[in-house]
Amino acid sequence: MSTNDNILVDFNIPAQTGKELDYIQQAYEKRHISGDGFFTRKCKSILEEMYPGSKALLTTSCTHALEMAALLLDILPGDEVILPSFTFVSTVNAFVLRGARPVFCDIRKDTLNIDESLLTGLISPHTKAIIPVHYAGVGCEMDEITRLAQKHHLHIVEDNAHGLFGKYRSRNLGSFGTFSTLSFHETKNITCGEGGALIINDPDMVTRAEYIREKGTNRSRFFRGMIDKYSWVDIGSSYLPSDILAAILCAQLESSSVIQEKRKSICNTYQANLMDWAESNSVQLPYIPDHCQQPYHMYYMLMPSLDSRQRLISYLRENGIISVFHYLPLHLSDMGQKFGGKVGDCPVTESVSDRLIRLPLHFHLTAEQQQYVISKILAFDI
Ligand SMILES: *Cc1c(COP(=O)(O)O)cnc(C)c1O
Repeated sequence: MSTNDNILVDFNIPAQTGKELDYIQQAYEKRHISGDGFFTRKCKSILEEMYPGSKALLTTSCTHALEMAALLLDILPGDEVILPSFTFVSTVNAFVLRGARPVFCDIRKDTLNIDESLLTGLISPHTKAIIPVHYAGVGCEMDEITRLAQKHHLHIVEDNAHGLFGKYRSRNLGSFGTFSTLSFHETKNITCGEGGALIINDPDMVTRAEYIREKGTNRSRFFRGMIDKYSWVDIGSSYLPSDILAAILCAQLESSSVIQEKRKSICNTYQANLMDWAESNSVQLPYIPDHCQQPYHMYYMLMPSLDSRQRLISYLRENGIISVFHYLPLHLSDMGQKFGGKVGDCPVTESVSDRLIRLPLHFHLTAEQQQYVISKILAFDI
């Protein structure tokens, strides 16, 4: 069988809700398609409404927002950062780029988030920051993580790539750390193809963040009329997205409730239809603690074994359905091993990585397609 034909259900199709192309046209009509134009300002104000008292800076990606956070924290060679091994490479790379040594923490079996009970044992005199990742947009245990960070004078940088619209104890994910980062990559709920944002919860960090984002210049203050010329004032790079991308993002943010409603209904349908089957086959479905509100970013299942996971992916593929596995443990990657990672360091991560399968979940998934996916899973011989 060829692998490119007979796809009946895609894993992901980037959401398009209607206004995207019109807004791109408007960006041209405003004769400003570089960074920080009309649509960037609109996106910024939508995000800042979600994070009262904080500043939002659009970036070219979540990766770049993480790099900015590492620059702003003055991470230096020899510093350590604690993060889950079960995450995307950018979470770690942004800090390793500055010379930091990553210290990998295992995850909880229930939420697949960083296991806060292991943190104390990993904190050393070199630790500078903890980088929790809200997996699938379900909040990490921020009460305990915040308590430990305060006790040991550590910064928190929340990798909130999955967690826009998620809440922990009624508070928006991304509002707990010194910084948090968002992704608008096409695999995320809200997307402009490639994009991200840095949320700055510490007012003292805002000015320098603007310098770093604008090539180490005070250009943004110049444009606000605060100074009469701009020049080189700090290290920096170019982290601003084109206003064309911001135009797409603005259209998406404005229709986020439609996107979120659709994703919620898909997740609830999977959950309701798979619950009994999962229970009788030792399959673990997503667990959302009562004090967390999820943003419906992901629907995954933890199969009983690597073998059953691999067989299910192939079986669904034979039936025209694309499903995928997720993160490979960072501590066992080539780079992770250079930092001393070895088998057994993070046993939960290693087991979860082998057994996790993600089901199709996107704005354009139809009810018929979803019923087809569910019927095939229920007929799968575990
Ligand atoms: C998607 C993702 C990123 C990277 O996002 P980009 O915008 O593609 O740079 C970082 N961390 C996590 C947890 C992600 O899922």
